[in-house]
Amino acid sequence: MAERAAWTSLLVALVVLGLKALAYRLTGSVALLSDALESTVNVAAALLALLAIRFAHRPPDATHPFGHTKAEYLSAVLEGVLVVLAAFFIAKEALPRLLSPIPLEGLGPGLFVSLLASGLNGLLAFHLLAQGKRLRSPALTADGYHVLSDVLTSLGVLLGVGLAWATGLWVLDPLLALLVAGNILLMGFRLVRESLGGLLDEGLSPEEVARIQAILARELGEGALEVHDLKTRKAGHRAFLEFHLVVPGSLSVAEAHALCDRLERALEAEMPGLSVTIHVEPESERQA
Ligand code: ZN
Ligand code: ZN
Repeated sequence: MAERAAWTSLLVALVVLGLKALAYRLTGSVALLSDALESTVNVAAALLALLAIRFAHRPPDATHPFGHTKAEYLSAVLEGVLVVLAAFFIAKEALPRLLSPIPLEGLGPGLFVSLLASGLNGLLAFHLLAQGKRLRSPALTADGYHVLSDVLTSLGVLLGVGLAWATGLWVLDPLLALLVAGNILLMGFRLVRESLGGLLDEGLSPEEVARIQAILARELGEGALEVHDLKTRKAGHRAFLEFHLVVPGSLSVAEAHALCDRLERALEAEMPGLSVTIHVEPESERQA
């Protein structure tokens, strides 16, 4: 269901991209070019994300016993590279025009086509937001807000190019293009930073670790003496947790195992996607 929405979004994005490219061909505006390039990055990113999500959800196999969830980060890193390339290309086209602005042509039809593209994109944004709410999918909702922010950027570009047309201040065109490029770059840096954290085995957030500790404190009960060396790491939509559990040396293996199973079940039930490994020790290993 979520995947069908992703395909719809990709299809609409392709049509929007075509319209924006046409608007650039008609006018020669670098601001409209930057808008079209942003759409290109979006289309490529959506395609990459779809492939990555498919791959990431493959079950663990003999060569990847921990699963394939980190594939999601790989697509984000690639997306970051695309973003930097797009921003660089915009700057290359826009900077010379900053010094010697060129009057634009065909603005009537160009702006009309661009407005059409934004209208279509706006419809897509509302569709995604509605579907995201209905299916309770954070990914779809985030996608919807992303498309909505693109619509706002495009409208800003349209307004600016219209203003340049009305006033003859053609330098507005490259200025707007550079603004869009800066915005794209920021987005790319955020993406890459997040993905690199995941690739470097970043731990769960302090709030999530606190939640784990609260669940443990509640479930430990009698039998266990202490938990130490608690470590977490994120891997896409999954996360891994391991810790040492100190129990009285007189506890039988069967009893200690039952305790571990209870802790694992409680943690995995309350934090979906979490995989727990527990190392059992006798009280001589106690640290506190
Ligand atoms: Zn230990
Ligand atoms: Zn077991």
